[in-house]
Amino acid sequence: MLKDQDRIFTNLYGDFGWGLNSAMQRGDWDSTKELISMGKDWIIDEIKSSGLRGRGGAGFPTGLKMSFMPKEESSRPHYLVVNADEGEPGTCKDRDMLRYDPHKLIEGCLLTSFAMSSHACYIYIRGEYYNEASNLQRAIDEAYESGFLGKDACGSGWDFDLFLHRGAGAYICGEETALIQSLEGKKGQPRLKPPFPAGVGLYGCPTTVNNVETIAVIPTILRRGAKWFNALGKPNNTGTKVFCISGHVNNPCNVEEEMGIPLKTLIEEHCGGVIGGWDNLLAIIPGGSSVPCLPKKTCDTIDMDFDSLKGANSGLGTAAVIVMNKSVDIIAAITRLSKFYKHESCGQCTPCREGTGWLYRVMDRMVKGEATPEEINTLEEVTYQIEGHTICALGDAAAWPIQGLIRHFRPVMEDRIKNYKQSHFTSAA
Ligand code: SF4
Repeated sequence: MLKDQDRIFTNLYGDFGWGLNSAMQRGDWDSTKELISMGKDWIIDEIKSSGLRGRGGAGFPTGLKMSFMPKEESSRPHYLVVNADEGEPGTCKDRDMLRYDPHKLIEGCLLTSFAMSSHACYIYIRGEYYNEASNLQRAIDEAYESGFLGKDACGSGWDFDLFLHRGAGAYICGEETALIQSLEGKKGQPRLKPPFPAGVGLYGCPTTVNNVETIAVIPTILRRGAKWFNALGKPNNTGTKVFCISGHVNNPCNVEEEMGIPLKTLIEEHCGGVIGGWDNLLAIIPGGSSVPCLPKKTCDTIDMDFDSLKGANSGLGTAAVIVMNKSVDIIAAITRLSKFYKHESCGQCTPCREGTGWLYRVMDRMVKGEATPEEINTLEEVTYQIEGHTICALGDAAAWPIQGLIRHFRPVMEDRIKNYKQSHFTSAA
């Protein structure tokens, strides 16, 4: 369990003010100028040795990603873009950072941008986060008024501007290249990669896109040292993580914990347990709606980190834990997700545009049992035809929940089909 002195987000519940004075009392903006004076290479090396992996879902090593940017500035400006388009169902961790601790993110933007030779950063926030955007803009204004942003930011000699941009509500704009397109004023549709944003990103210039949490933890890592962060969690899965737990728990919450905390401990210690007790657990989606669900017997022992969950054929994703107890119709629950992905497909590539609709229509019949057992195999096969064959990961996100369902709950689907046949046979007779 994470000790209080190791917490990064000390105002996750909004117990204190979110403004500049309160943030400074919590240690934000402390010696920022000195951190900058350590140099770009030092910052990138510290982030590399901290072992920080991206907190937006993919878990790519952050320091390595930063090092992909060109070393020297050229005629093309460099950009940092912060992805605050938090739209994955079940995920609400960035929201509390944005509304209660915005200065952590703002300071992180300055330090990360400096390390990547960027004089400008854009934060792309989902349009529905009105209050969060309002707090964040006020915090940005305060930082400008205090000389922390703008010309000679923090007296460091580095000029830096930070812009907040509100999105308009499309889930796909959380995909980094769709986000860049949207920021440029175009339709928010993912771009083919390569070229990758580090070469050709925003306005055709070198760009790195990072999640809110990833950037917000960087000032604390630099102040307390890579060794401190690296000592938390597990090898290759270091540091702390904000988990958001929803669904059938007694106290749904966001909580910062060590990476690698056992899933059962997370739920029992922080959420008051599963409604009806641990034995009433049916399944858990451990990383936001796009990752495969896990049955109870896996949940009994699994640890919450990138590698453990990958080993269980699922993923840490955004660390949004969706708990389902035995009152849930698991086929209907996964069908609801299929409907979501069908709705959010941008329509650019055929396997996703046609496939998500096809998956949803078949799943809709599976809920009633109006199918044949062989169709379960066809359904599974189609998910593998979509997975990995699309421009962006939305295709995978539509495929994985169904794969998890079939992997762990095939007998439930078969029973549903059998019952449907029996009831129709009886009524027809
Ligand atoms: Fe658009 Fe889906 Fe293709 Fe992504 S996978 S680019 S959302 S059609």
